Amino acid sequence: MIFALACYGTRGDVEPCAAIGRELQRRGHQLRMAVPPEQVGFVESAGLPAVAYGPEVESFWNADFLRGSTKTDFFRNFWRVRDPIRVVRQAVEPLIRHWGEMNTTLISLADGSDLLFTGLLYRDAAANVAEYYDIPLATLHHFPIRTSGPLVRIPLEQLAWRLIKRAEDAQRRELKLPKATVPPPRRIAERGSLDIQGYDEVCFPELAAEWTKENDRRPFVGTLTMELATDADNDVTSWIATGTPPVCFGFGSLPVGSPADTVEMIGAACAQLGERALVCAGGTDFSDVPRFEHVKVVGPVNYAEVFPACRAVVHHGGAGTTAASMRAGVPTLVLWGTEDQSIWGAQVKRLRVGTVRRFSATTRESLVADLRQILEPGYLTRAQELAARMTKPADSVTRAADLLEALALRHVFEKEDQVSGVDKPCRLCGSTGPHDKFAIREMMFGTREPFAYFVCAACETLQIVDTLEGEELAQHYPPNYYSYSASPKLIQWLTTQQDRYETHTGGRAVGTVLAALPTGFVRVVMTDIIRLLQQLGVRLDARIIDVGCGGGMLLDRLATIGFSNLSGADPFIEADGHTPQGVPLAKRYLSEVPGEFDLIMFNHSLEHMPDPVATLRAAREKLAPGGKCLVRLPTSSSEVWKLYKQDWVQIDAPRHIVIPSRQGMAIAAETVGLQVEKTHDDSTFFQFLVSEAYRHDIALNDPKIVRFFGPLRIRRWRKRTEQLNRQGLGDQTAFVLGVAK
Ligand SMILES: [Zn+2]
Repeated sequence: MIFALACYGTRGDVEPCAAIGRELQRRGHQLRMAVPPEQVGFVESAGLPAVAYGPEVESFWNADFLRGSTKTDFFRNFWRVRDPIRVVRQAVEPLIRHWGEMNTTLISLADGSDLLFTGLLYRDAAANVAEYYDIPLATLHHFPIRTSGPLVRIPLEQLAWRLIKRAEDAQRRELKLPKATVPPPRRIAERGSLDIQGYDEVCFPELAAEWTKENDRRPFVGTLTMELATDADNDVTSWIATGTPPVCFGFGSLPVGSPADTVEMIGAACAQLGERALVCAGGTDFSDVPRFEHVKVVGPVNYAEVFPACRAVVHHGGAGTTAASMRAGVPTLVLWGTEDQSIWGAQVKRLRVGTVRRFSATTRESLVADLRQILEPGYLTRAQELAARMTKPADSVTRAADLLEALALRHVFEKEDQVSGVDKPCRLCGSTGPHDKFAIREMMFGTREPFAYFVCAACETLQIVDTLEGEELAQHYPPNYYSYSASPKLIQWLTTQQDRYETHTGGRAVGTVLAALPTGFVRVVMTDIIRLLQQLGVRLDARIIDVGCGGGMLLDRLATIGFSNLSGADPFIEADGHTPQGVPLAKRYLSEVPGEFDLIMFNHSLEHMPDPVATLRAAREKLAPGGKCLVRLPTSSSEVWKLYKQDWVQIDAPRHIVIPSRQGMAIAAETVGLQVEKTHDDSTFFQFLVSEAYRHDIALNDPKIVRFFGPLRIRRWRKRTEQLNRQGLGDQTAFVLGVAK
């Protein structure tokens, strides 16, 4: 695939994009990057193709604005500013001035690509270009932009939109897009764009509760960095080794006002504390500063290597630098210059891994006091604890690339739908459509790999377009999926929760939902089936076979209550054998099993089979006179499928191959000489709970799924589920099939 990455900003903004770009390129995708002219060399040195995007950042906003005075007022004291329009205009004016030029670059960059990825600056221009090409948009955020809480910027956003509107309208006219009637954030959300949060969720613990209610797709991936080595690293490491660990000072890529005064202050403060100091110059020229025995001044260094070797880190509070000092597990003092940096400073203080002060208000005395504070042992302990909970840089890059790949792939599927439907024959009724196609993501393990499914135009049976086979399929099943005591990671976690529930040590909500584990799990709801067998009048000595029995847990359950003529068949178990209760299990397909049966059961197994009609035919042939088939499986003739579509939990891509509609099942039965005698819906509120989680991009194995376990919601869902089951609109049912008369 082709990925277009447009990133306007400083080195700190460009590096995360380049990190993702490198990973996508490594996976064999084609990359295109647009960055400010002074960053082209850096991006090319990382092995990525780059074109210049807009003017040099230094000349974009004037130096005063960048250094903070106006920009800070703009962000922080917006409603207190005497002339807000003037201030906002000062911030937005350069954006407008270069809008047309950025648009031109974006049009050529995104032409023919499968996804457009952007930073925050010119995100709105990029969104219009993505809309023009009908490709997905993803945005990288370095800190939370909230719609509620202490950082509300809604009035600002609206005012800003009013100011950029003319430029945007012109762009949209040029692209022949309809005139916009709502602000860009809403349009962007409506197109299903991804807001990747390029920082760690643990840095903003208060967000978890705040963002649950919202429907946006904004996954946290952790801070993205390339951890590039520099020429200075070796020199610095050996200097650190010659004495006690120093306090490290880093100031990012924007220049410090007065380098000489800054070094003077650092030297004096550290002398007073008896500490050594390492000053890392980024964008500042420190060549003409006073020299001290205990202060080493160097150029840019690799923070990932240097920070962990220091006692404490003092920096400007850039997103990337803050993440580096937090990941290093050392106490941090943030001396911020601009409002976005003060956000990070505030979090450092809030997490009690350091403290914060405005750089312009810093004196030698305040520096001594602040350093003394963060050098207390509690800060180091907490910093180390926080570091252990943060995402590893390599994992962050992998996760971000996974997300972009999935978003692009999903869109490719959806686009194909619009062009042409699927014309394959329906596996149940044979209709050749054209059928509507959907991209369904793998969400049980959360790989989010999309798979194409279609809904039969005639009978509404949902089914995968191409059946996976062999290794390709096997990798989507957990190990021990079929064994008796299956305990893949997910089940272990849920089981622990249930144990905690039963022993009254918490986990209540998860415990209540466990009875409703989704299909495909070994632990199936058994009470319902026992009740059903009683209703059907199945005798204890009836010949019963469970097809797709796995390890035979259900058979054992039936054996313990007195059924005496049981057996199981499953071609995917390791070998022939017996359950702990002595029920024989055969590693065979049903068609290969000798003899005849009074009851042939499929307990959430038929939906895993590529040719359900052939399987039902085999069942028909093995039915003794008066025998019945019992087929329990999910059905697309359900309310939840209509409500949740792609996010419906029971699609369980790619493991479920055919999810019959009630009509599709009737047709399939008729084809082989069977008929549906009755159905019994046995859905649980799980249908709502997990579908809701998937809709919020929370995978089944993600512990964050507990957010959806509110007692009130569960009560409501349970009630609704009971209603739907009665009405025959549940998302799973038991079909009782008898021989057609
Ligand atoms: Zn059909």
